[in-house]
Amino acid sequence: MRAVVFLLLVVLVFLIVRFTLNRIIAIREQQNRENQAGNENQNNSSQSSANGEMVRCAQCGVHLPQSEAYYDGKDTFCSEGHMKAYHHEHQS
Ligand SMILES: [Zn+2]
Repeated sequence: MRAVVFLLLVVLVFLIVRFTLNRIIAIREQQNRENQAGNENQNNSSQSSANGEMVRCAQCGVHLPQSEAYYDGKDTFCSEGHMKAYHHEHQS
């Protein structure tokens, strides 16, 4: 009878350890994803503030909030006109 209890205890500890390891791995993966996202934001705008919300217009160089900026998939612009002007000047 004692052997059965001991066996159940071992299985229980094993399950707890497995569950804990899974949680640690999940948290680490989430942190890695957040770190990568933060690095990408820093690369996109070198002069970004601590919030990472300010972007630079590629045409005139003015800084503006990311929510108000026009994004063409590569560069950010302060207005649709500057986005078109920039593409017009840099088309090959
Ligand atoms: Zn501009």
